[in-house]
Amino acid sequence: MKKKDGISLTILRSDPAKLAAPYYQTFSVEATKDTTVLDALFQVLETQDHSLAFRYSCRSAVCGSCAMFINGWYRLACSTLISQIGRDIVVQPLPHMPIIKDLVVDLSSFFEKYEVIKPYVVPTKPPPEKEWVQSPKERSRIDYSTDCIMCAACYSSCPMVWTGKRYLGPAALLQAYRFAADSRDDILRDRLQVVSSEDGLWRCHTVFNCTEACPKSLNPARFIENLKRTSTKETLKARIPFLARSSR
Ligand code: SF4
Repeated sequence: MKKKDGISLTILRSDPAKLAAPYYQTFSVEATKDTTVLDALFQVLETQDHSLAFRYSCRSAVCGSCAMFINGWYRLACSTLISQIGRDIVVQPLPHMPIIKDLVVDLSSFFEKYEVIKPYVVPTKPPPEKEWVQSPKERSRIDYSTDCIMCAACYSSCPMVWTGKRYLGPAALLQAYRFAADSRDDILRDRLQVVSSEDGLWRCHTVFNCTEACPKSLNPARFIENLKRTSTKETLKARIPFLARSSR
């Protein structure tokens, strides 16, 4: 890429409140080797069309707000360099999600399901004088699961979410694992009861779309498998007392 190159940026435009159908609109923007897709969207917003709608916040790939479908793949607009994906860029909102306007999708169902799994540590022991201490080994059990930025890319990519509106989905289940495996948490039984429901972890068919879609290179499918294992172990322990005694 030269110092400044002309790039074609095609955006899927929608406004369900005013327009009967979405349409593609192409803009010309200038990009250097460091221009991100988010920068290009800002160029359009600031110099060509003030009505363009998109979400963003941190610009550092940690808030998850700017997850979009860019050149046929799930990416964060803020960390996607145009120089790495070509001169013809096509940007669409996260697929299979209700569109509010342009690149902004309705994330209500995604966050409602997140709330269901109680995304916080619940200790039932009396609090220690200072802090809850976690050993490196205990911390390693939740490694990577804490890196989820709740961008909803995995949720948007999951065929079980497309076909089952009540299914909790990969991100909520990954978070369920994250809190169930946390050494400071004491409500494992309650957590397993929630995720073992008809719309919980057993609805995951291990398609791995979530793992491929995750822009943070996480593996939600693996965390769901871990949770399935924990759930099976706890069920067996409850039904076969001998197992409970031998695992103490
Ligand atoms: S698991 Fe990955 S794709 Fe899913 S919400 Fe978290 S960061 Fe986004």
